[in-house]
Amino acid sequence: MTPLYPILAAQIARTGPMTIADYMALCLLHPEHGYYSTRDPLGAAGDFTTSPEISQMFGELIGLCLAQSWMDAGAPGSFVLAELGPGRGTLMADILRATRAVPGFHAAARVHLVEASAHLKQAQAETLGAFDPTWHDAVADLPEAPLFLIANEFLDALPIRQFLRSGDGWREKVVGLDGERLTFGLSDAAPYPLLADRLETTQDGDLIELCPQLPGVIEVLSNRIETHGGAALIIDYGDWHSLGDTFQALQNHQKVDPLAAPGQADLTAHVDFEAVARAARCAHTRLTQQGVFLERLGITPRAQTLANGLTGAALKSHIAAHRRLTHPDEMGTLFKVLGLYQGGRTPPPGLET
Ligand code: SAH
Repeated sequence: MTPLYPILAAQIARTGPMTIADYMALCLLHPEHGYYSTRDPLGAAGDFTTSPEISQMFGELIGLCLAQSWMDAGAPGSFVLAELGPGRGTLMADILRATRAVPGFHAAARVHLVEASAHLKQAQAETLGAFDPTWHDAVADLPEAPLFLIANEFLDALPIRQFLRSGDGWREKVVGLDGERLTFGLSDAAPYPLLADRLETTQDGDLIELCPQLPGVIEVLSNRIETHGGAALIIDYGDWHSLGDTFQALQNHQKVDPLAAPGQADLTAHVDFEAVARAARCAHTRLTQQGVFLERLGITPRAQTLANGLTGAALKSHIAAHRRLTHPDEMGTLFKVLGLYQGGRTPPPGLET
């Protein structure tokens, strides 16, 4: 039994079964026993890995993409360079290294990080301290200024609710107690006006997911972009239009039962990019596969240049990393990129309208 279990059990006993969103929020961000509050989950020794942790090439290309977007926006003399959920700070460090040679970019950039975990803030301070970053708990706290932003594997950590189509209504999937065990249950069917538009695209028995925080996050950052200029790259696993159960738990790089070890496994769900596009108050690009995006930005020539300096095991792992980021059987097609940019301006490189 994990330290979070009695807290969850007491709450369920007091107020009844909780939504998956409430369960996810407590498991991930409970200040004392939450997953992100207590550990660094990334890397080979952690529970999962991410593109920037696989290869420096990912952050380098993102950096150059954002720098080109900044130039296309007229190179504003002061702007916010932001990351949502920066993990260990690896991605932002690679972005900053790759853009050192872009005239005026560093002088104009103010680094802002949105991070909920005190533990990971500490790791970010170690990696990025030289750039004097400002931390925020929420996207709404980002300053009013031109905004160039990256969010890689951030939205998948935001809590989701799940609904099962039942006739013309919906039953919400909830987490309850069966004796001493956490278990999934279903609420009674109700109409849920919020889901009215999904009645046309689903059938009885279909399951859909809804991320309540997502529209607010996207609205805020896209308003900044539309008002002050800028661009955002949203990268994650997911697709256009959510359908089906994508709620998953990872521990030691293995899928596990999401109810088995609350607070000790990473919990995520696929991102519904249609919901991102719908919430955007600025222009958005077409949804593009990560492999295609990175190829367009020149990952293969960059990989060849880096390969020239490598031999043996280092070369092998470099080749594997390139494949992992781009190949359709690995992260190349599961992961997608959506760009947000100011209406009437050029979309970020590698993406199209
Ligand atoms: N972007 C990094 C890390 C992804 S892991 C990478 O690509 O390697 C998810 C990150 O989002 C972690 O830093 C986690 O602490 C942060 N996070 C999760 N939920 C959050 C929330 N609600 N608000 C702010 N940060 C959050």
